[in-house]
Amino acid sequence: DLPEASTIWLDGALVPWHAATTHVLTHGLHYGTGVLEGTRAFATADGPAVFRLPEHLRRLERSARMLRMELPYGVADLAAATVDLVRANGHRSCYLRHFAFLGYGAMGLDMRSSPTTTAIASWEWHAQLPDAQGGIRLKTSSWRRTDPNAVPPAAKATGPYLNSVLARREATDAGYDEALLLGADGAVSECTGENVFVVRDGVLRTPPASAGALEGITQDTVLTLARDLGAAVRVESLLRSDLYAADEVFVCGTAAGVVAVRSLDDRELPAAPGPLTARLRAAYEAAVTGADGRYRHWLTYVG
Ligand code: PMP
Repeated sequence: DLPEASTIWLDGALVPWHAATTHVLTHGLHYGTGVLEGTRAFATADGPAVFRLPEHLRRLERSARMLRMELPYGVADLAAATVDLVRANGHRSCYLRHFAFLGYGAMGLDMRSSPTTTAIASWEWHAQLPDAQGGIRLKTSSWRRTDPNAVPPAAKATGPYLNSVLARREATDAGYDEALLLGADGAVSECTGENVFVVRDGVLRTPPASAGALEGITQDTVLTLARDLGAAVRVESLLRSDLYAADEVFVCGTAAGVVAVRSLDDRELPAAPGPLTARLRAAYEAAVTGADGRYRHWLTYVG
């Protein structure tokens, strides 16, 4: 279901979908030397708008810096390119994949001789996790989240996604929807493509980046929305038993949105979605679609 008739932004030009190819000896294919972002444009009353685009592009820059990759384009260039692409492809709403990787030029682990390729692709979004009504079933993974002193999880880099791919496959093979990953120290980290939140006695908690979790932009959005709803929020280390004992658990990410969790390791949560999860889902929906005017500064209108 990829939009093969559309265009991809590749190193400064819009090219036909099938022209955006790369050589088999691309450095990033062999060694995972790439950085990426997953961003979304939502349909609003004033046309498509990209949600928190500068924040996504700044994270891309930080990821590249951690890998010592030179990004040939700055945040302003990539933001303008994103708007051009969404407009050119005529999307009402879409998923956007910004990425940069070390390309063809030299093989071997020394990264200094490979040029950087930068691209932006867009396609219509289809939900990745099963329908959130009633919630998803999580399983604690046998795979640990990447140790921050092996590969920095704060860098949204392509290679480390093998950790997420292994964990997701294990969970789905066992009949669950998604995996919960613990960090090297056994504390809760995150899911394969979402941050995790628990609610107990009205307090909303989520693990910090030091747990090996990505600094999620949806996580930050949810924390802001929760504070604005008057909820007590805490970013702190969690144990898996904090999820077993929670009143509500949900996961969130750009691709997933805000998704209630029904059970973890076959322990049913009391409610899915619970009342705070339901309020946050609605608040998130109103923010991304521009329906709630307080959050319009998060939208980049494509026009
Ligand atoms: N954790 C991981 C491992 C992810 O891949 C993602 C998706 N980018 C997230 C969390 C959620 O991040 P965001 O809200 O910025 O999409």
